[in-house]
Amino acid sequence: MVTAIGMTEPSGGSDLAALRTRATRRGDGWLLNGAKTFITNGAGADLVVVAARTGPGEGSRGISLFLVEATRPGFRRGRKLDKVGQPESDTAELFFDDLPLDESDLLGEEGRGFAHMMERLPQERIGAAVSNLAHVKPLLDETIAYCRERRAFGSPIGSFQHNKFLLAELATKIDVTQAFVDQCVDEHAHGRLSAARAAKAKWWTAQIQNEVTDACVQLFGGYGYMTEYRVARAWMDARVTKIWAGSNEIMKEIIGRDLGL
Ligand SMILES: Cc1cc2nc3c(=O)[nH]c(=O)nc-3n(C[C@H](O)[C@H](O)[C@H](O)COP(=O)(O)OP(=O)(O)OC[C@H]3O[C@@H](n4cnc5c(N)ncnc54)[C@H](O)[C@@H]3O)c2cc1C
Repeated sequence: MVTAIGMTEPSGGSDLAALRTRATRRGDGWLLNGAKTFITNGAGADLVVVAARTGPGEGSRGISLFLVEATRPGFRRGRKLDKVGQPESDTAELFFDDLPLDESDLLGEEGRGFAHMMERLPQERIGAAVSNLAHVKPLLDETIAYCRERRAFGSPIGSFQHNKFLLAELATKIDVTQAFVDQCVDEHAHGRLSAARAAKAKWWTAQIQNEVTDACVQLFGGYGYMTEYRVARAWMDARVTKIWAGSNEIMKEIIGRDLGL
C-alpha cells in the first residue's frame, strides 16, 4: 500500500497550526473539505493521513488526523507537480469535497492531531538527515576521483591548492556531520531524540548537502551543468532538502525556542 501524509496546504506549510482543511461533524462522523499541496506520493497513494481542523477556532488545538483511502467519494487528485529536481518522485495536490469520515477513520485522539504530528516529526527529520548525508557522501567520493583524473595546466585539478583545500574542508564537514547524525540516530533508537536535536540534524545536513553538491558542480566544470552527469542532477535534487520536512528557518525556530529565546 502506498501512503502519504497531507499537512501542507496552498495557504501555507510552515504555520501548520493555521491549516484550513476542515472536518465538520455530521452524525457519528465528519464531512471533510479542503485542499492539500506538495504531497509526496499524492498521485499514487492508496491511503493518505490528512490533518484537518475538527475543533472550533484557530490554532493548534482542534486539529485531528484522519486515514483517508483514495477510493472514498469526494477524494480528488490534482496535478502531479513539475519540480526542479527529483522528477522520479510523485508530488501532487489533493482535494476533499464533502468526503465522509467515521470514527474508525480517526488516527489517534480527536483534537490532538497537532500534538501527534509534533511527537512524530522528529522521526521524519532524522530520516531526512540520514538521507541528506547518504546522498552527498558518494557524490563527494565521485568528485574526488574526478579531481584526481581531470587535468588542467598539465596537472590534476585536485592538486591545485585551492581545490585540494576545498575538498579537504568538504570531507571534514561530512565526517563531522556524520558523527552528529550517528549520535542522533542512536538517541532516536533509544527514544531519547529531542525535537531540537532532530531539527539541528535536519537543517545542518540539508545545508551541508547543498554546500558540498554546489562545490562538486563547480569542480566538474561545464560537465557539472549537464543533466547527463549525476552531479548536475544531484544538485537539482538537493535544493528541496532546505525547504521540506519543515524548512531550515523553521528548524532554527525550534532550536531557538529550545534555547529559551
Ligand atoms: C518536493 C516536496 C515534497 C513535499 N512533501 C510533503 C508531504 O508529503 N506532505 C506535506 O504535508 N508537505 C509536503 N511538502 C511541503 C513542505 O513541507 C512545505 O513546502 C514546507 O513546510 C514550507 O511550507 P510552504 O511551502 O507553505 O512555505 P511557507 O510556509 O509559505 O514559507 C515560505 C518561506 O518563509 C519562511 N518562513 C515561514 N515562517 C517563518 C518564520 N517563522 N521565520 C522565518 N522564516 C519563515 C519559510 O522557511 C520559507 O522560506 C513538500 C514540499 C516539497 C517541495
